[in-house]
Amino acid sequence: MCYTIPALVEDVNKGIATISYFGERKQAFCEFVHLNPGDYVYAQGGYVVEKILPAQAQKTLKAWKDVFFELRKIDAVSAALDSSDVSSDRLLQKILERARNGITLSKEEALYILGLKDEHNQLLVRRTANYLRQQYHNNSCCVHGILEISNICARNCAYCGISSSSCVKRYRMSCDEIIAAAGEAINKFGFKSLVLQSGEECGYSIDELANIVASLKNKFPVLIFISFGEIGVKGLRQMYDAGSRGLLLRFETSNPVLYEKLHPGCKLNFRLDHLKAAYEMGYLIVTGGLIGLLGASNEDLVNDIILTSSLHAEMFSFGPFLPHPDTLLANFPAPSERDVLGVLSLARLMCAEKAKILITTAYETLSSSARENGLMSGGNSIMVNVTPLKYRSLYNIYPHRAHENQTVAQQVRQALSMLKSFGRGPTDLGS
Ligand code: SAM
Repeated sequence: MCYTIPALVEDVNKGIATISYFGERKQAFCEFVHLNPGDYVYAQGGYVVEKILPAQAQKTLKAWKDVFFELRKIDAVSAALDSSDVSSDRLLQKILERARNGITLSKEEALYILGLKDEHNQLLVRRTANYLRQQYHNNSCCVHGILEISNICARNCAYCGISSSSCVKRYRMSCDEIIAAAGEAINKFGFKSLVLQSGEECGYSIDELANIVASLKNKFPVLIFISFGEIGVKGLRQMYDAGSRGLLLRFETSNPVLYEKLHPGCKLNFRLDHLKAAYEMGYLIVTGGLIGLLGASNEDLVNDIILTSSLHAEMFSFGPFLPHPDTLLANFPAPSERDVLGVLSLARLMCAEKAKILITTAYETLSSSARENGLMSGGNSIMVNVTPLKYRSLYNIYPHRAHENQTVAQQVRQALSMLKSFGRGPTDLGS
């Protein structure tokens, strides 16, 4: 989501531009920018966010051209399957073959995959997920920025360290601080898309939040995702009219009984209605669930993946539950890294073509090799936290969050060098 390379506009028709990246054609909405064929643009998540001067675009493209194809080659080689990628488990072999041939896996097949215990077979599933990721999405990896504007929250989620019952010191960034932090992320570090996140009823009214979104949209060429919780259909409409085009809202678990246990006074259906309304309004949807929640079965996890897909998610966001010492779930264990990788790779197998799959910060907190392993198991999206350091540790949803003390510059440097070493381009070319 954040970085991208310039695209050439080939055609504009009824608000949709056909744009090309070194000859590869994509479609993008151009409601924010007036365009003509021959223009150069930056696009994100299927939206043109900025028109750029031809000389500037051509200079960037010249610098990128060889690198672009070289990275693709490295990725294609490392994602290819070879003769050792077989299993003596004939059912698994058959399931993986079906996934490779683009056949939708049944729930029983998905459960079989999640139940695998043998290490070689688990690795084979992950390698197949990586193969499918490369086949359908090539080497693009979006790197999106997240700005946590407030940790004030009215909800009392049983696992969350910033829930209303937590004693964490509360903060709410001022409008000027939000604009300054977003401006730095966009102008200095090149982010083209940002997620604004907060707790629910975060200390700003919906009108104030909409004004913040509108100011950012007026000042910067950026695609804005909101993640303010359940703001109601009217709130969603207001944010859309203010210029946001993406919604990050996890349903957390598809099991309604478990959902109600973990979210006192709340209903899963209400949350799902938000996601459905947002999709109907035209929002790009980022959603998913927690992995390893107390009481969730493998069947629940498979249902989570199916639900995410049925909600038309353009990005799957699945991360591990991590125990926070000040919550009711303090003494329950986090899932293992293998459990997380099992879900990420199964999501890729079940929805190969559709989705970007995020390597979440929670997963990076669980394992220092999360990015590497997640990217090699079907993942193709990562996050950079652009919240000012003075607030970062207060957004304490679970302890010792990955990148908690790193500057944006350090995170960007680290992310780009890792992606390069894997042959991944920090580019969102859309679909
Ligand atoms: N208010 C917004 C909402 O309701 O989606 C966004 C804020 S909420 C804190 C962001 C995400 O943090 C949630 O979707 C939840 O999955 C995750 N989260 C909270 N506590 C967590 C924990 N202990 N372990 C892992 N993830 C957690």
